[in-house]
Amino acid sequence: MDQPTTDATSPRGELRRNPVSGKLAIIAPGRAARPHGAPGTGAQAAAPGAETTPAPCPFCGGNEALTPPEVEARRPEGGAPDSPGWTVRVVPNKYPALAGMHEVILHSPIHDVELEDLGDDDLTAAIACYQRRIGAQLDAGAAAATLVVNRGAGSGASLEHPHAQLFATPVVPSLLQDELMEFDRHRNRYGTCVLCDEIAGSGERLVFCGEHVAWTPLASRFSHELWLAPAAHVADVRDADPALLGGALRRALVAVRTATAGAPFNLWIHTAPAVLRGAFHWHIEIAPRLSDIAGFELGSDMAIVDVDPLAAAAALREAGGALRRRQNDRRREE
Ligand SMILES: [Zn+2]
Ligand SMILES: [Zn+2]
Ligand SMILES: [Zn+2]
Repeated sequence: MDQPTTDATSPRGELRRNPVSGKLAIIAPGRAARPHGAPGTGAQAAAPGAETTPAPCPFCGGNEALTPPEVEARRPEGGAPDSPGWTVRVVPNKYPALAGMHEVILHSPIHDVELEDLGDDDLTAAIACYQRRIGAQLDAGAAAATLVVNRGAGSGASLEHPHAQLFATPVVPSLLQDELMEFDRHRNRYGTCVLCDEIAGSGERLVFCGEHVAWTPLASRFSHELWLAPAAHVADVRDADPALLGGALRRALVAVRTATAGAPFNLWIHTAPAVLRGAFHWHIEIAPRLSDIAGFELGSDMAIVDVDPLAAAAALREAGGALRRRQNDRRREE
């Protein structure tokens, strides 16, 4: 496993651990230069009028020269690297948190196409790309790979063009480490998987179920927080069928978008680290950002949530039902 660099002047990002709290931080001064990348509040980073910037979008089709050379891309009609004609494109982050370990995954060359707006084939290709890049980073020696999507003002998104980011880290991030400990603790005590038990006990907090299950956690940290996981006990997201996962993710995203009236959100995938010693069950967490994180949350690491997860689940189910009704109406019209 790589040791964190000790070069304090490195513009490329450095992993540090606070000896008092044990918390990890990546100190990455080079990222301050990124577009709209105001260090500081998310509101500043992507405030509604901030998109009046004259700079062309580096993630739009046709602007490939504005990004570092691509890592990989899907071009159904063929074509040269770093040219238009792609449907999914992976580039290194121009302003990496940790050099060589921070990628941007573009799921569409079109500026306002969100994941859930993609057709089945493109969505499946995007999910398969996530899985492939997670695998590539773990194979290259990362301890863990964290895929995130930031959407909307207040989510920390520095560019509006929808994209995912993959952060490979030389250590297992703190939250995933905490989860791995809970999986072990639960298994030692009850002999079962804590996430399988969480799904089985979700009851009225279940939003939908099938090959993948979506529910609101009893102890949600965000209003309308939604988790998505395979119904079967599987540790690694790379083992998911990308078409089935894409369909479930679309359903979850549409439910969250509808139930929260398009609120900003963060999404992340928790999947098995490179070396998994105990049990794990991969899952996606979707965290709508309806209110700011304030002093108590930061100072206590405890959330205050003002929507009951039971009520949130009902709203999310209703939002999902509304989607199906609209689709049925469309089908009837056609
Ligand atoms: Zn764009
Ligand atoms: Zn499980
Ligand atoms: Zn998790």
